[in-house]
Amino acid sequence: MNAHPDARPIVIVGAGMAAYSLARELRKRDQRRALLLVASDAGHSYAKPMLSNAIALGKGAQQLVAHSAAAMAAQLGAGVRTHTRVSAIDSAARTLATDGGETIGYAKLVLALGAQPIRLALEGDGAAAVLSVNHLDDYAELRARLERAGAAARVVILGAGLIGCEFADDLAAGGHQVTLVDPQPRPLAALAAPALSNGLAAAWRERGITLRLGTTAARVDRDGAALAVTLADASVLAADLVISAVGLRPRLALAQAAGLATARGIVVDAYGRTSAGDIYALGDCAEYSTAGGSVVLPYVAPLLTAARAIAATLAGQPTPLAVKPDAVIVKTPSYRLALAPPPPGTAGTWVERDDGERIVARFIDQLGALRGFGLSAPTAALRASLLAEL
Ligand SMILES: Cc1cc2nc3c(=O)[nH]c(=O)nc-3n(C[C@H](O)[C@H](O)[C@H](O)COP(=O)(O)OP(=O)(O)OC[C@H]3O[C@@H](n4cnc5c(N)ncnc54)[C@H](O)[C@@H]3O)c2cc1C
Repeated sequence: MNAHPDARPIVIVGAGMAAYSLARELRKRDQRRALLLVASDAGHSYAKPMLSNAIALGKGAQQLVAHSAAAMAAQLGAGVRTHTRVSAIDSAARTLATDGGETIGYAKLVLALGAQPIRLALEGDGAAAVLSVNHLDDYAELRARLERAGAAARVVILGAGLIGCEFADDLAAGGHQVTLVDPQPRPLAALAAPALSNGLAAAWRERGITLRLGTTAARVDRDGAALAVTLADASVLAADLVISAVGLRPRLALAQAAGLATARGIVVDAYGRTSAGDIYALGDCAEYSTAGGSVVLPYVAPLLTAARAIAATLAGQPTPLAVKPDAVIVKTPSYRLALAPPPPGTAGTWVERDDGERIVARFIDQLGALRGFGLSAPTAALRASLLAEL
């Protein structure tokens, strides 16, 4: 194999689905270019969505690993440097600094840094024990704590958004006693039509999941080996484990310190380029520009679209991202849902139709246009036709 004329590698920071998807796509187009992935974690390749449906399947963290970092390096013909945190970017010199004091030069840089869980400001000596699950290591910790608690652990989940609802369903299916706490009056309130939230809540009542809605957790205290969660209404829930699922925030610090433009995420243009021309971003850390405005899309489908386009651009064929919102399949087997929520802040109303087999909810804006939808018992055909209408 001949060396590529530009001796500096393309460097990808991260080893999540965004980083590995991009590396694979790049290798489809260019086998020669030097490629290096630098990640602060162990670099295991795994499907992150599995984290919220693996308890019921009885899977341990190791069983979720598709390939080790070494296997990925061999597969990709790339360097994969693990347990190495990038601490600074010098975009003028085209170098990175790592926590270990190393300087790495790059020809092009791609940030695939992901997002970090938002932490609630909770009082109490148990607040630090509240677990967020956004990584394979968090899942390993979740499994370990469930095992310590025994067969039917008491689990309190803070947040009834997508991820909180998926964990609630999965943990209940795994035989645990789940209580879900959310300030909104219904689960998935920001994403789904009322009839769909109500359908989910009804399915959960049958499953034995307890909903504590319209309230929040104020403090978490230790109570021997257990935890006591005090809600805003002063009631107290006993728990073996408390999971926080109140949202994610794109990792921005590295980009901000390097002077890159950021808003909710690292802002990229139609080609995935940040405000520094040689630096790209994709995945949970990025804010994409779409026809409907700039958006953070922390899902798998958009990162795959972005990976294909950025790989083509890096291989010399400038290709716009064409990232667009998609329908998300909610992994709640108790009540199957597909959701394409309206953009935040869109004024309009949900129009719901229940034909006995499924509920179809359409979000219609003030001009009468379809801006979002939700389906129970979704079929691929119906999802596709509503997406086309969107
Ligand atoms: C429980 C759960 C369930 C989900 N289910 C679904 C689903 O059903 N469908 C769907 O579409 N999406 C789902 N998602 C979202 C989807 O998994 C994410 O959008 C996707 O995995 C994000 O990948 P990423 O590579 O951008 O980020 P990450 O996976 O977070 O990877 C970030 C990488 O960057 C590294 N890193 C960060 N900072 C540094 C640094 N300074 N130096 C070096 N390395 C660094 C990290 O170590 C990591 O390797 C789910 C997410 C969760 C948490």
